[in-house]
Amino acid sequence: MSVLRLARTILRIGRMAAPATDAPSETAVGDQVLTGSVQVRHVDAGSCNGCEIEIGAVFGPVYDAERYGARLVASPRHADALLVTGVVTHNMLQPLLRTVDATPKPRVVIAVGDCARDCGVFKGGYGVAGAVSDVTDVDIEVPGCPPAPDDIVAALRRVTRR
Ligand code: SF4
Repeated sequence: MSVLRLARTILRIGRMAAPATDAPSETAVGDQVLTGSVQVRHVDAGSCNGCEIEIGAVFGPVYDAERYGARLVASPRHADALLVTGVVTHNMLQPLLRTVDATPKPRVVIAVGDCARDCGVFKGGYGVAGAVSDVTDVDIEVPGCPPAPDDIVAALRRVTRR
């Protein structure tokens, strides 16, 4: 696609992002150091992938979490915050704990979805080690199965304070 054609397409479609809402009224979370810009690493500890679809939407053009200062990164070494989805399965327990350890402090852990919060529909399953808060400290919980993208964005805004 030529640059001219691309420019025409952008002008024709216009802005896709949903209008920005007021900052969440809930208490801000995290050290002041994290304010403004937060690098986020996602960890799937045993999800059904429903929560991942919503996280994909959160960082897509409509919900556009980057405009509030949250950005996905590929390594916990570069992250300030972890978005953890799913129950913690026995197979993912050690990788999750290593990922938490690899994330520099001050760090924020966000448990996304009912499975991450309290094991949800997988409670009592043979492969389940527990909820995220059973194995590491959790700063924010986002309820829902799956949670709405707006609620995940609101949790991220509690960290970025934007
Ligand atoms: S909370 Fe719901 S959508 Fe998310 S991993 Fe659990 S079952 Fe799947």
